[in-house]
Amino acid sequence: MKMQDKVALVTGGAKGIGRAICIALADEGASVAVNYRSSKAQAQELVDEIEAAGGKSVAIAGDVSNPAEAVSMVEQTIAELGGLHVLVNNAGIVKDTLIFNMEPEDWQSVMNVNFGGVFNSTKATLGHFMAQREGSIINISSVMGERGWIGQANYSASKGAINAFTRSAAVELARFGIRVNAVLPGFAPTDMVSGLVDKGGKGIKKQIPLRDFARVEDVAALTVFLASPDSAYLTGTCLPVDGGASAQLGLGRPE
Ligand code: NAD
Repeated sequence: MKMQDKVALVTGGAKGIGRAICIALADEGASVAVNYRSSKAQAQELVDEIEAAGGKSVAIAGDVSNPAEAVSMVEQTIAELGGLHVLVNNAGIVKDTLIFNMEPEDWQSVMNVNFGGVFNSTKATLGHFMAQREGSIINISSVMGERGWIGQANYSASKGAINAFTRSAAVELARFGIRVNAVLPGFAPTDMVSGLVDKGGKGIKKQIPLRDFARVEDVAALTVFLASPDSAYLTGTCLPVDGGASAQLGLGRPE
């Protein structure tokens, strides 16, 4: 098992992509702290599921957009699971709307949770990671951070900021043995994109070279790779897991 004796903290881990990441890390032997903001029951169910399969896990409350709560979340993980080696910054929200209609709260909250959460949680781990000269930070960003879409200016900007932060943090922290990488999912059916997938699933799938959405397990597999020693020489990368969607110019066929 690739993550034996390692401890991982997954923000927003109770459902969707975060949940799949928690399970995949636990399957590789990691002890997993499942952070949640509001989904307490789902987080506890996941902890029970991991423990029933022989793993070690705890549920930890905390809003990643709040710097003090991010610190407390990291401290609790270390206290309850005996260490910390991997941080997966997965928590995220959308508030899609046209820029013309966008209220200050619509972009500030998306920026504060998506990018602010990455900054707060990353900073909260650094004292510990630097002292042990080991740490892998994986930011769950989005292909939207490198591309644009109508109604997603706030989300897209927050993910673009994460990608830029990933590269700078990787360069700055490499000397301490800390790696920082980002995973850029395309569409993976979860609560976050349910409206879109339910309404336009077929139309979107047709435009994806591999003709399907990502499974949450596809995103989790790449995340585990980036967490594990298999990726020891990777840092500062922003890796899409999008069925080829971001590789193509979105113009469709010429006729
Ligand atoms: P989701 O809504 O199922 O999960 C998001 C999780 O983050 C939830 O558990 C939510 O409670 C938690 N969260 C939100 N705000 C939080 C906060 N302030 N503090 C702590 N936790 C908080 O959506 P998902 O699709 O699983 O999204 C996971 C990540 O993947 C997000 O960062 C999202 O932007 C990214 N992503 C998703 C897709 C997709 O198609 N589903 C595509 C690209 C990127």
